[in-house]
Amino acid sequence: MSDIIRRDPRAEWIARNRLHPLHAAMQPVLHSWMGPNGVIRKNVHGVGFIGPNGIKRIDRSGAQQGGAAKRAAAVEVQLPLHQVAAPAFYINVVPDMVGGRLSSHDRDLLGLARQLAGSDGAVLAVVFGEHKEGTFATAGVDRLLVLEGHEFDGYSPEQRVQGLRAVDNQFNPRHWLLPDSRSGGGELGRRFAASLKERPATRVWQIKGSECIGRAGAGQEDLARPLPRLILAAAECADPVGETRHEVLPVELSTPLARSLPRIEDLGAVAVDPAAIPMAEAEFIFSGGNGVKDWALFHQTAAALGATEGASRVAVDDGFMARDRQVGASGIWVTARVYVAVGISGAIQHLQGIGACDKVVAINLDPGCDMIKRADLSVIGESAAILQALIVAVEAYRNGAKRDAA
Ligand SMILES: Cc1cc2nc3c(=O)[nH]c(=O)nc-3n(C[C@H](O)[C@H](O)[C@H](O)COP(=O)(O)OP(=O)(O)OC[C@H]3O[C@@H](n4cnc5c(N)ncnc54)[C@H](O)[C@@H]3O)c2cc1C
Repeated sequence: MSDIIRRDPRAEWIARNRLHPLHAAMQPVLHSWMGPNGVIRKNVHGVGFIGPNGIKRIDRSGAQQGGAAKRAAAVEVQLPLHQVAAPAFYINVVPDMVGGRLSSHDRDLLGLARQLAGSDGAVLAVVFGEHKEGTFATAGVDRLLVLEGHEFDGYSPEQRVQGLRAVDNQFNPRHWLLPDSRSGGGELGRRFAASLKERPATRVWQIKGSECIGRAGAGQEDLARPLPRLILAAAECADPVGETRHEVLPVELSTPLARSLPRIEDLGAVAVDPAAIPMAEAEFIFSGGNGVKDWALFHQTAAALGATEGASRVAVDDGFMARDRQVGASGIWVTARVYVAVGISGAIQHLQGIGACDKVVAINLDPGCDMIKRADLSVIGESAAILQALIVAVEAYRNGAKRDAA
């Protein structure tokens, strides 16, 4: 096993959340602490371990404590399993699955679906084509229906609506939930509603009993209305599921899908200049700060990755980047799926601007800086050396992919 100690953000969150059922189990065992009068107190019974012959052993080299801490970090959190043997009804969710994985918006939606399902209903997730997701169980999915087939590849709203109609006929769910997003859910939901001749609730951010509240009037007003069957929900409409594990039982359509000729032909994605994408809409941002020492190399790396460039305020103030590239409280609030911060310390004003980013990667010399604490993946080291290695790795990956395709 590798000696690298990996952080588990989920376990850390549970350790902080005193209301979580596993909170107590995630607390580190303290053997010494400062008493109220400033004297260090020790729990002598907590030290050591019981050897194979039943005698208590104490290893004063410190290795034992280190080993125990590592083992504790490696213990996987086992959440209580929520089972629905015979669902009284279904709440169907159609996640966007951008890149084949659940997005944070999808997880919020599954959290909302769980609230609507209660203890008798089951959350059924409908996924199109191949996916790479392995965490449906902790995201709250009781049943999973994968609609396979090449007709669902790429932009295929008509075929997807046809698939959803078939699911609707078979499962007759109490509610359909789709993300009201630009990644597909917003359009698919509206098309699906039109084909069902039902009026959906859009941009819903709250459900209270039999009423839902959605944004309206160009985002300036709230609109409350009776809860319809079809709900297109906004991001952060509910907390993602965090305290239960679910069965993810596979289900299938009982009748094969009727395949009719689509009127839309997908000619594939059009390559765009990443610099031309507005920062607030960019999916992949490569951001530089005061720790970037070679700006030519920074631009070269961003071009190699095909990422949109961003910057901290210091980089902008120093004249290395344009003002419209500044990310943060007094700059642009971004919602990228991947945000790479090169040599950015993670000041609160900068972190505010990346609060909605899905995955944050930090490249920094200082392992204790706030950006590293926020990051999902960190690379500790000199930025220039890491960027050079990154360019080499990207080129090797691209060449490998080309060879495989040839
Ligand atoms: C009212 C107000 C509004 C603000 N609004 C914003 C805003 O919108 N956006 C914003 O970004 N800031 C904003 N700021 C500024 C903010 O407080 C910070 O000063 C700024 O974000 C720091 O930028 P930085 O992380 O690039 O620089 P620094 O804080 O100097 O951090 C540099 C980082 O680079 C690392 N580093 C150094 N050398 C290397 C190397 N060779 N390789 C790798 N890493 C290295 C260091 O360890 C450090 O972590 C605002 C401040 C105020 C008061």
